[in-house]
Amino acid sequence: MVLHHWVDFISASVKNARMLNQNLPATPANRLKVMECLLGHGFMARNELGQKTGLSAATVSETVSALMSEGLVVAQKATGSTRGRPAQVIGVNAMAGHVVGIKLSMHEATLAITNFAGEALGSTKIAHPPGGLDATQSAVRIGDGVLQLIGAAGLSAGDIAGIGVGMPGFVESASGRCLWSPVFAQGAESFATWLSHITSIAVAVENDVNLVTLAERWFGEGRGVDHFMVITLEHGLGMGLFLNGELYAGPNGLAAEFGHVIVEREGALCRCGRKGCLEAYVSDGALARQAAQLMERPIPADGLEVHELVDEMTRRALQGEPALRILIAQAGLRLGRETANIANILAPQRIIVTGEAMRAEDLLMRPFTDGFHGSLLPMLREQTQIVWHKTSDEVWAKGAAARVLRAKFAGPR
Ligand SMILES: [Zn+2]
Repeated sequence: MVLHHWVDFISASVKNARMLNQNLPATPANRLKVMECLLGHGFMARNELGQKTGLSAATVSETVSALMSEGLVVAQKATGSTRGRPAQVIGVNAMAGHVVGIKLSMHEATLAITNFAGEALGSTKIAHPPGGLDATQSAVRIGDGVLQLIGAAGLSAGDIAGIGVGMPGFVESASGRCLWSPVFAQGAESFATWLSHITSIAVAVENDVNLVTLAERWFGEGRGVDHFMVITLEHGLGMGLFLNGELYAGPNGLAAEFGHVIVEREGALCRCGRKGCLEAYVSDGALARQAAQLMERPIPADGLEVHELVDEMTRRALQGEPALRILIAQAGLRLGRETANIANILAPQRIIVTGEAMRAEDLLMRPFTDGFHGSLLPMLREQTQIVWHKTSDEVWAKGAAARVLRAKFAGPR
């Protein structure tokens, strides 16, 4: 009896271990590594995938099999394959499904529909009505836009795997709950529920800068870089962190609130209600306030007015108006210095600067670079590269779509 017991125990343990070994390689982390690599570099042979991801041949094989059985990855014949070279390459199955990404900014919403390879099939913009925005009314307008976009692509709501929404403000990653967003005068937390109700599609909400960081990693300037920072400058100032090969958002998605680092005690009033935040000196909102004073005009009341005023001031500054050029240069210099302070702590390989403020071109970039290099530790100078990404809103919307893809690619929990 005792012997039988042990035999049963050992054989059960061996069986369990075998099952564990079979199941272990296709972990969510390995699946994401493989999908990220294939999205970033396109079709490749299995051994190249192993080299690029650092995964063993057995893990690559196991993970790819799992992804293939779900239709997320496909194999095709390698072009120009010669003797001794693999005849087959694998890549993302772009036609496995479709997702919708939405970027909400202070003056409009940008919508994009993409396939599973992140290729945009269509996009559109919906302007917010003037004045304070109610989240429910906004969900109705945007939901309508989503359904039109899907229809224009020859698809129906049932073909869409999910909607990702990038929203400025404080958003808890896990719950997708928006704690506060400057976009909505009221009801920010109910936006996702309403949008899902109107479209009959699942909605995931995330902080917009985290999504841009994901988009840079998958489709942009962060491909193949394991330590980078993203600075987004437009109506607000945001930061995204990609550290040790992973998005770092803190335990609840609220990390890296660079815009709300206090740089002046009792300084200018910030949108968050506190005084002296960096954002209150360098963002479009800050520039609009300063330009309005200079031009002796009323301070803009909403996102649309800020957008229009900063567009005008930038145009005039680019044409040569000295006082306006100085405003932009001061913002650039300050932002460059504060960015260096963070870089001195995190030592990233790359800093990607993006957002609508890039329209000021060298008026912003040159002082930023001067301020940055003036404050960066000399030993980091060699390794730290600044990249200006004059991105369109569509890339941000693709990041929102990537949020949904990421959950799909990671697999069932
Ligand atoms: Zn603030």
